[in-house]
Amino acid sequence: MNPNIYWQAVVAKSQIMSDIFVYAVKTTGIYCRSSCSAKTPKRENVEFFQTWHEAETQGYRACKKCHPSGESIAVRQHRQMIEACELIQANNGELGLVDLAAHFAMSHYFFQRVFKQEIGITPKQYSNEVKRQNMTQVLQNRDKNIIDVAYDSGFNSVGRFYASVQANIGMTPTSFRHGGKQMQIYFALSECSLGYVLVASSHKGICNISMGDDLEQLLQDFQDIYPNAELVANDTDFNAVVAHVLEKIEMPKTQLQLPLDIQGTAFQQKVWQALMKIPVGETRNYTEIAELIGQPTAARAVAQSCANNRLAVAIPCHRVVRKNGDLSGYKWGVERKRTLLEREQFSQK
Ligand SMILES: [Zn+2]
Repeated sequence: MNPNIYWQAVVAKSQIMSDIFVYAVKTTGIYCRSSCSAKTPKRENVEFFQTWHEAETQGYRACKKCHPSGESIAVRQHRQMIEACELIQANNGELGLVDLAAHFAMSHYFFQRVFKQEIGITPKQYSNEVKRQNMTQVLQNRDKNIIDVAYDSGFNSVGRFYASVQANIGMTPTSFRHGGKQMQIYFALSECSLGYVLVASSHKGICNISMGDDLEQLLQDFQDIYPNAELVANDTDFNAVVAHVLEKIEMPKTQLQLPLDIQGTAFQQKVWQALMKIPVGETRNYTEIAELIGQPTAARAVAQSCANNRLAVAIPCHRVVRKNGDLSGYKWGVERKRTLLEREQFSQK
């Protein structure tokens, strides 16, 4: 590459270029990254090298400020944030931001920024997700009663444990254990222009809308979500609900007048609420949704929340596409996504 470009990078203290080459200063015998905070040397004293090895071969020593030898800053930060995730997991999500940052000799402000950049969510959100997963695991261990589980998980009161499970998992420990056992869930299978549809409702509202080509698979997936709930099929009163949902699928402008039983983490709920505000006939990309909920770097977590949506069409995750217009995936098949979007555009004309 043209040395003038390297030189401009040095003058500008370029971050982007800092992993691409090093510059060495003849008068000091030290070599640096372009991003180094050291005083900019005179142009005539500077030599450029593609790799730090070459600089060392020429007798230069690595700068103590910018550590130009070894892994690049980007690679190191990536490795550190993976390590941070492991650390959070090892501590059951209980490690505070200041302690975490201290482990990497970073300020907590900087640590939080790098973490969010690398992982897509904040350390706090990641910790909550770890807690949620751990709770899910301990609750699945049926050899222990819930009070023991609460104390084993480090809670000093059962009440706090209940509150935390409810906040993190979206149902009480007992409901979770029973796979929704106290719940009666009404469901019906039907057919529409997009294939088979399964609609289900708890006493709170519609809790599942899924679509597929294979009736048995559809039913199996549904049962897997509520292994112990009492599933009530073909209830006459429920047929009216199903009819209304089908209408919404066939005619996008129909307002769904039914309560929804939306279960998910606080983050998922935020994403889903944002999706419900996308007007019929329009789309947003994952980053735009992340920005809308005030977490601009959480695009990957947004995509994950779309994939965890249980309420097809009612929570319009089909209106979220890639930045370049690609449809990206759809839990119920990308062809259905395409059809839904085309239909909505047509309904706007
Ligand atoms: Zn330096």
